[in-house]
Amino acid sequence: MRNNPITPTVDFEKDGIQHGFLKLPYSHDASAWGSMMIPITVAKNGTGPTVLLSGGNHGDEYEGPIALFDLASKIKTEKMSGRVIIVPGMNYPAFRAARRTSPIDGGNMNRVFPGRPDGTVTEKIADFFQRTLLPMADYVIDIHSGGKTLDFVPFCAAHVLDNKQQQADCVAMMEAFNAPYSVMLLEVDAVGMYDTSAEEMGKIFISTELGGGGSAWAATVAIAKKGVSNVLKHAGVLPGPLEKSTTIQLDMPDGQCFISSVSNGLLEIATDLGSHVTKGQTLARVHDIERTGTRPVIYKSPLDGIFTARHFPGLVGMGDVIAVIAIPL
Ligand code: ZN
Repeated sequence: MRNNPITPTVDFEKDGIQHGFLKLPYSHDASAWGSMMIPITVAKNGTGPTVLLSGGNHGDEYEGPIALFDLASKIKTEKMSGRVIIVPGMNYPAFRAARRTSPIDGGNMNRVFPGRPDGTVTEKIADFFQRTLLPMADYVIDIHSGGKTLDFVPFCAAHVLDNKQQQADCVAMMEAFNAPYSVMLLEVDAVGMYDTSAEEMGKIFISTELGGGGSAWAATVAIAKKGVSNVLKHAGVLPGPLEKSTTIQLDMPDGQCFISSVSNGLLEIATDLGSHVTKGQTLARVHDIERTGTRPVIYKSPLDGIFTARHFPGLVGMGDVIAVIAIPL
């Protein structure tokens, strides 16, 4: 296969802290011989495991980029054993534009893996992760939030995997991350995900959903910072005890957990995130905005559980996920 056009300005094998770029040639109207300069930090000290940290896989999710720009500015190598690779804005064009997908090619980073070295800008970045960064990593964390259209109770997630030892290692890392909620996640759309690529390569992988709405809160940023610090200690890259508090275990066993809209209109959420709901309880009403005098469409919970995610904007469209209910274990 063709070489990836990205040139890193950092040396992944060198000890110390390096702040640099993944330099991706990108010829466009404003810069004929220009390059996309994607920020990256490599911190390495001696031998030990490699932890690969990313945020901004979707460009409108902020806990990851905030925690990782912060970590990159503070990380010190004296007490480290191993290597930390930090990419705070993975889909950098999307991150710069505050969009879920890339404004250059419309690429959704978490749907294009394994990418292509001769593809779109988004596919080239994915290919660099697939063939250069992931193979170097032992532990991989990809920090997501809900973005502009979803909001979540803050959770860390691991997947059900065929390899049960690998699954147990992922669950142990999820427990180390110690978000207020921990979820064994069902992916509704797993093809092309970074998660799937990392897991198929045998990596110990976790992701998160730490909030949403297209911004971040003090509490959710604190969860991201603590989680990353805990995982670096769990991996043995940094010394010291983990900072732990209680986490609520949730399960999303099948598609029944997801309630999608079959109407367009004004969303009236009837209960808030984190609340216990019972089967048949009204979760939301969607009001017709074309005319007055009509009854709203009612959306009820198909099961007993915890109200885990919701559609964020005030208006909802046909096929949007209105609510996600997870089952406490
Ligand atoms: Zn995301």
